[in-house]
Amino acid sequence: MTTIQYPNILLDTLELGSIIIDEDFNVLYWNQWLELNTGISSVEIIGKNLSLFYPDIDYNVLKRKIRTSLRLNSPTFYDATHHNRFIEISRTKITTSSLKMMQLQITISPYVVEESLVMISIYDISDLHELKLSLQDKIKKIDDLNRELYQDQMIIDVNLMIVKINDVNEILDVTKAFINFFGYEETDLIGSSLSDMFGEDFNKRMTREPIDAQTKWSGEIKVHSDLKGAVWLDAVVTPISDVDGNLSYTVIFHDITDKKRLELLSITDPLTKLNNRHWFNEMYQNIFMRRHWTAKNSFAVIIADIDHFKKINDKFGHLIGDKALINVAQILSETIRNGDLLARWGGEEFVILLSNVDLYQALHVAEKLRLAVEKLNIEEIGKVTASFGVAVFVNGDNQESLLTRADNALYKAKEKGRNRTESLENLSK
Ligand code: GH3
Ligand code: MG
Ligand code: MG
Repeated sequence: MTTIQYPNILLDTLELGSIIIDEDFNVLYWNQWLELNTGISSVEIIGKNLSLFYPDIDYNVLKRKIRTSLRLNSPTFYDATHHNRFIEISRTKITTSSLKMMQLQITISPYVVEESLVMISIYDISDLHELKLSLQDKIKKIDDLNRELYQDQMIIDVNLMIVKINDVNEILDVTKAFINFFGYEETDLIGSSLSDMFGEDFNKRMTREPIDAQTKWSGEIKVHSDLKGAVWLDAVVTPISDVDGNLSYTVIFHDITDKKRLELLSITDPLTKLNNRHWFNEMYQNIFMRRHWTAKNSFAVIIADIDHFKKINDKFGHLIGDKALINVAQILSETIRNGDLLARWGGEEFVILLSNVDLYQALHVAEKLRLAVEKLNIEEIGKVTASFGVAVFVNGDNQESLLTRADNALYKAKEKGRNRTESLENLSK
């Protein structure tokens, strides 16, 4: 058995392990890297059999690999990472990883200088291995995140009504929830205009404002659905600009029809379908908040009370009495101007709130209403009349004082013979 002298200088400078060995595993060369990393010196091992130092190596496999390499006269790869055991070297490098043993890549190649010898090169690929592990870990995390995102998206898609539109109101994308709610086909919606669907009012209210302000907008709109009829939606519009500065909008809708229905019920008088006293009080309170009223441009309260209504009930019964109330409510509602507020005050009494009027105009409106009631010819009853009390807001009035004045004016009208309009204020001012 020979020992190898001449490659030492070259092989010792390499950052890898290098063994020269014969087919029977006798060690002829053991480089410095191995000395450093295994703690076995070349003096100790050279001339001895590798199996004395490393009895656990799979020598059958190693023999096969050595022969293959020699026969083919080319390097072969000895896989020590999975099944076959080889020299185990612990890591000396300071690292944060839990990898205690070096991951080795082992190549067996014919030793060119002398026949039937091979050189085993041992590369430490622990860093690569760690990189691979951490990449795998990252990929798994990304996969998990993607899966979560996908699930979230699915949940959003079937549960939230969301529409994406561009700056000219064309629908870019819709969720399943939206499509299902309105009973449309997705293909009919994409590219069509949201204002075609919801009307110009939608366009004006929901998109123009955020386009100008470029801020979030929210509000309630009433739209028509073929499937459901009239529906109320709460909409939140968020403008989004892409990298090129193109604007688009994400509109999130909630069906608030039930809420609106309840709201409407709470402010509506069930018999006459007029707004009720509760609603009137809110409006009345609001008008007092506005502080710009003057004698020439004020607001007025009119209280109307049907004359001798008790007699009507007595004579025709309550149900016919109800019908009279409905008729009077309707004629009052038809006679007032847009913007005037009418409500059932209670019993056979109605209240009207007029903005931007003076006493003269308020009295004129009351007279017009009185004449309209007088003209009515109610089925089964015939004629009814009503008396009207008018009061105009003056400086120093509060909610109660103004209403009391209107009520006292009504009392005066009753006193003076009914079917007339009265006010406590002096017209000749
Ligand atoms: P006046 O000319 O002085 O106003 O006489 P009146 O009979 O109209 O006055 P009063 O306030 O004494 O009577 C009002 C009547 O209205 C009494 C009540 O039975 C009737 N009434 C109140 N609410 C309803 C209603 O919802 N339906 C019917 N049918 N009658 C009602
Ligand atoms: Mg009454
Ligand atoms: Mg009455």
